[in-house]
Amino acid sequence: MSEKLKNYINGKWVESRSTKYLDVKNPADGEILARVPAGAKDDITEAAEKAHEAWPAWRNTPATQRVQYLFRMKQILEKHSGEIAEICTKECGKTLAESKAEIVRALENIEVACGIPKLMQSEFSEDIATGLDEFYIRQPLGVGACISPFNFPIMIPFWFMPYAIACGNTFIVKPSEKVPMTMTRIFEIFSELNLPDGVLNMVHGGKETVDAILENPRIPAISFVGSTPVAKYIYQTGVSHGKRVQAQGGAKNPVVVMPDSDEETTVRIIADSAFGCAGQRCLAASIVITVGKASESFTEKIVTAAKSRKTGNGLNAGVEMGPVITMESKNRIEKLIQKGIDGGSKLLLDGRNISIPGYENGNFIGPTIFDDVKSDSEIYKTEIFGPVLSILHTETLEDAIHLINQSNYGNSACIFTRNGSAARKFRHDTLAGNIGINIGIAAPMAFFPFSGWKESFFGDLHGQSLHAIEFFTQTKVVIERWHDEWTRKF
Ligand code: NAD
Repeated sequence: MSEKLKNYINGKWVESRSTKYLDVKNPADGEILARVPAGAKDDITEAAEKAHEAWPAWRNTPATQRVQYLFRMKQILEKHSGEIAEICTKECGKTLAESKAEIVRALENIEVACGIPKLMQSEFSEDIATGLDEFYIRQPLGVGACISPFNFPIMIPFWFMPYAIACGNTFIVKPSEKVPMTMTRIFEIFSELNLPDGVLNMVHGGKETVDAILENPRIPAISFVGSTPVAKYIYQTGVSHGKRVQAQGGAKNPVVVMPDSDEETTVRIIADSAFGCAGQRCLAASIVITVGKASESFTEKIVTAAKSRKTGNGLNAGVEMGPVITMESKNRIEKLIQKGIDGGSKLLLDGRNISIPGYENGNFIGPTIFDDVKSDSEIYKTEIFGPVLSILHTETLEDAIHLINQSNYGNSACIFTRNGSAARKFRHDTLAGNIGINIGIAAPMAFFPFSGWKESFFGDLHGQSLHAIEFFTQTKVVIERWHDEWTRKF
């Protein structure tokens, strides 16, 4: 019988009250790795109460002392990075190099949050009228919670958690039920931090757990990352309960290839962007729009690059692309590929029915490429979240930008060109929150916000950077009058 995962509440490992457990499977071979609670409202009630009780002492701990825990957090995560990456690859399917890259971005977010004693500083205006001063203070909100998706089990909670606690909040992490083991191990190693009980908690589960977070009056701030329909639901429900919510959603990211782009580099970068993490990245390129003569050889070369990628178990050396997360996901992607064929798009490379010797039970799909995709087709509009790239052709950059700006999503858009004015026009006119110029994955560093527009984001303040500090604090404005004559009395 596989291990039943526990919650971490108030400094202790506790069994969930959930009566149902779900299997956590290795996507490369179908092996059951662990069992995760399906979710119980009472788990959240308990975690929220304990986090709320821990809050007053934590918020009164000076920020300079709170960040000392983060300095140690960085060291502990670094020390255990090899082991954490391996667990991540086993339950998530991505390659070891991809898992290690997640840790790098998680560490970077901890580093930025270490600057919070400075970053939380406010502004002061002396003499707004004679003898009257005005300033504001940033104060924490209370208990925060993050709900994360399956595709970055390590990195995504770190877009929020280090900022939340360094700002003086206590926090609950709800990992994806598909990949709960990585964060469980991270919480185990964090016992070395000796954080006060209740400051950092983890509760496993699915929809029931999320709904309990949305309804709990002890939790005033929610950070969500996942698909658009769920992001919209989280935002609307959270806001209706009077909470502050930031909800990052899905994506369908276009890449424009101009005729003057450096073709060899462009092809290599786009292949990495589209097929890295088996296409399961919210910043993955899923549409290529070639402009003018760029179409002549780009299509042939990207097919050659895609064919050469080695698919297999992410733990094995030389593997460049792992499986997709579940068998349901594989079936859904394969159905979409069929719809692409039925809808008249030209299938240049078919990743269905690949077999990886020794991993016959794995959820593998090879790189797949469609050409001449219509902008009103289902494969063009739907977030496939698998290694499937759609190619379209336009005559001008204006046409390409126009096409991009019709999309419901706005997570990222990239252009490949050597022409500065084309790049500038693209940067200026394109409706997306993260823009890449000669970049395949425009992932913001931790000291920039993780922007997202349209249906890729619901809320006002994004994750990471100063946005995170604003999100996890509220401003208190103070106006003070001190009469000069009172001083003279002493
Ligand atoms: P998902 O929406 O299915 O799940 C995300 C989280 O929501 C999980 O913790 C899950 O337990 C919970 N959840 C799922 N269904 C729910 C429901 N009906 N009610 C309440 N909670 C629910 O997403 P996923 O499949 O785990 O992740 C992939 C998606 O995440 C893709 O759409 C991808 O684009 C998106 N994503 C976005 C970003 C970004 O920064 N915008 C980053 C990573 C992933």
